[in-house]
Amino acid sequence: MSWAHTPTLTQYLIEERRRYPQASGDFNALILDVARACKAIARQVAYGALAKASHAVTTTINVQGEEQKPLDVISNECFMRLTEWGGYLAAMASEEMDEPYVIPEPYPRGRYLLLFDPLDGSSNIDVNVSVGSIFSVLRAPEGKSEITVEDFLQPGTKQIAAGYAIYGPTTMLVLTVGRGVVGFTLDPDFGEFMLTHPNIRIPESTKEFAINASNARFWEPPVKRYVNECLKGKTGPRGKDFNMRWVASLVAETHRILSRGGVFLYPRDNKEPKKPGRLRLLYECNPIGMIVEQAGGRASTGYGPVLEVQPTELHQRIGFVFGSREEVERIEQYHNDPDASPVDLPLFAERTLFRDETL
Ligand code: MN
Ligand code: MN
Repeated sequence: MSWAHTPTLTQYLIEERRRYPQASGDFNALILDVARACKAIARQVAYGALAKASHAVTTTINVQGEEQKPLDVISNECFMRLTEWGGYLAAMASEEMDEPYVIPEPYPRGRYLLLFDPLDGSSNIDVNVSVGSIFSVLRAPEGKSEITVEDFLQPGTKQIAAGYAIYGPTTMLVLTVGRGVVGFTLDPDFGEFMLTHPNIRIPESTKEFAINASNARFWEPPVKRYVNECLKGKTGPRGKDFNMRWVASLVAETHRILSRGGVFLYPRDNKEPKKPGRLRLLYECNPIGMIVEQAGGRASTGYGPVLEVQPTELHQRIGFVFGSREEVERIEQYHNDPDASPVDLPLFAERTLFRDETL
């Protein structure tokens, strides 16, 4: 039985922990409870239009008499109820809650902060396209009796773990604890996450980009330029044809890029000048950014590393560009040096530029 030799998530975490003899085990308990929340959400999502009739909504997650809630709220409660009791968290924050949730009495207060997007891409639910959950783990400040919003405003470089679950044809959990990226596939027979992808790496170059082209008229010049050059294909300055993809679900886009490379852009644009970007820094861009960087890719605001941004608000939005390293570096160069021509870029001396110019 080959599966007997495949490590589970639990086994992976225990083996990682053995590297740190002083570790308390709290961290492993946290990740295992997050994984359990993801399994519960995977089941909820799988019921689709049958959810009302299934009773699963009222029995598996204690919504106390409520017949059905939007899946975002149910998923949020899954995360809260399955992680608040364990004694490893000081507080948590979520897309679905205006303010942080400080762990209440009688539960012990722990050393970590958890941030999450409980159901990412939920507008895709009705069309039965992959959705997911995203999470980020930070350290709580030591020796502080009250946890406040400010304690969550740590740059992404401070994350000690990040991950997402994707609820697609198979349910997977993709995780980094700062030593590369690993992927687990949920075995539906045993309900266990099995280590099926022990070392996920993003290819350095790609011929695939993902952007919501309906926003083209609002893009800043560097983004227009990048996309135009891709669209020109083989006879353009890039000298190769590109494919475009757009799922409109961050987790699904991330998973595709981790699987076969590519670049994703939801850049800052001038559609709504008050909103600098669409995606949320703390529970979307930072955890995805850590995973991408740990997989050898690059995660950027368009101008520089997203993980180095000092957050100013819990639900802050930001421009986000990530994926294959060479493409993201090129996009950053277009932002930071608008006059750079593709031939100036050391990595991409393109003979074909001249052909294009003289045609
Ligand atoms: Mn989301
Ligand atoms: Mn969401």
